[in-house]
Amino acid sequence: MTTLRCERVLQLTLAVIKPDAVAHPLILETLHQKILENNFIVVRKKDLWWRRKDSESFYAEHSGRFFYQRLVEFMSRQVCGPMRAYILAREDAVAHWRELMGPTKVYRARYTAPNSVRALYGLTDTRNTTHGSDSAESAKREIAFFFPEFSVQQWLDKEEQRFRAGH
Ligand code: UDP
Repeated sequence: MTTLRCERVLQLTLAVIKPDAVAHPLILETLHQKILENNFIVVRKKDLWWRRKDSESFYAEHSGRFFYQRLVEFMSRQVCGPMRAYILAREDAVAHWRELMGPTKVYRARYTAPNSVRALYGLTDTRNTTHGSDSAESAKREIAFFFPEFSVQQWLDKEEQRFRAGH
């Protein structure tokens, strides 16, 4: 059984470097370094392409919005290269990764968070370099989407044991 105490120690999040950023080796490397400098543990990492139906399914909550088709095409293999997905662990991993990313819209990121990843490297509101889960619940769901072989529960249970052993 996972306790709140455990979740306060290390939390998991799903971070994605989108195809616009993966296409530029220097940006990709810079983002990878940023992950390490921010004391995230890289639990899993993989480069992958989506088919259109993966993209539609992942972003289903946005279907009907004006940017949906553009987003689906951008994230699937018809248009761009691969993306890179990470399972990251850290204290407050969800909030910390989202803070590093900055606001969704690049122009807003440039005004309000000029040192954020999206402000520095984002091209447009759609090609905005990164994705990050917005809660622990979505992290669980999104990790299962990208890494179906990975058990979040098992990982948290081991983390709980590690935490107990050290206290
Ligand atoms: N998006 C877009 N135009 C918009 C808003 C969002 O193209 O006006 C895209 C963008 O790539 C964003 C994704 O849709 O990252 C998901 O949007 P969400 O509101 O969930 O933002 P996020 O959580 O990625 O900041």
